[in-house]
Amino acid sequence: MTFPPGFHGIHAAPLTTTYERIRWVVPVPRTDRIRVRSHTCICREIQFELCEAGGLAFIRRLAPLRGRDVVHETEWTVTTRAVRLWESLLRGQAR
Ligand SMILES: [Zn+2]
Repeated sequence: MTFPPGFHGIHAAPLTTTYERIRWVVPVPRTDRIRVRSHTCICREIQFELCEAGGLAFIRRLAPLRGRDVVHETEWTVTTRAVRLWESLLRGQAR
């Protein structure tokens, strides 16, 4: 698929050799209000979202499987910690 100029959003960098392995878990419904603060570009097969809810933050991963998006997320934690992990993910230092 081709995308028009200016289409692309944030692309996570390729993984570094010593990247941190994030523990992804199946989401548990906790609230109906989740704010997506930032997200990676939808041109990539796997997308990541930095989310906030109830004073906490976490990263959501959407990966396609048989035509559907399978959703996993990190632990919910204080925003500063989630943002640090988000930045590591974007630099290819965590995935
Ligand atoms: Zn893109």
